[in-house]
Amino acid sequence: MEREALLSGLVHPGDRAPAPGGLRLVQAFVNSVDAEHGPDLFDDAAGLSDWLARNGMAADVRPADPAAARAVREALRALLHHNNGAPRDPAADAVLDAAARRARLEPVFGPGELVPRAGGVDAAIGHVLAAAFAAILDGRWPRLKACPRELCGWAFYDRSSNASATWCSMRVCGGREKAGAYYRRRRAARR
Ligand SMILES: [Zn+2]
Repeated sequence: MEREALLSGLVHPGDRAPAPGGLRLVQAFVNSVDAEHGPDLFDDAAGLSDWLARNGMAADVRPADPAAARAVREALRALLHHNNGAPRDPAADAVLDAAARRARLEPVFGPGELVPRAGGVDAAIGHVLAAAFAAILDGRWPRLKACPRELCGWAFYDRSSNASATWCSMRVCGGREKAGAYYRRRRAARR
């Protein structure tokens, strides 16, 4: 995928609408890498810095920040796989809990939200975690899912009436998975 397309946060396979409200920030954070073809915007400080600026959270990026951002991103992706039927991953919860502590998230009653009291990239990641937590509380969270096709993992918001969508795009990933299952069955039958 083009770096600019990835940065824009406007790539939604299957013509899906982006996630609503603050969940859009979580979706953009998780979709900061094209796992299959690259690039990964969080591979280096410049990419992370660009992503933060484009999402209204410009911050000085320190050398350790990209790796921390990648770890939080993949922990969030694990939760989104869980929303799509995968087993819960306790290690992912621990990564997110630690990041929330680094961000010094505090509940603030006026706006009714969690606000990061830390600075820099820790705070920016705190905003992402606060948006995820708000969605867990308001019930929207289970509809943000990660595509289960290996090498995809794209985060999409499931607007189907019974929340039954599995693939980011039936045409792209659902179709390939079906073709793969067909091929594996044929191969097994020939043995
Ligand atoms: Zn997919």
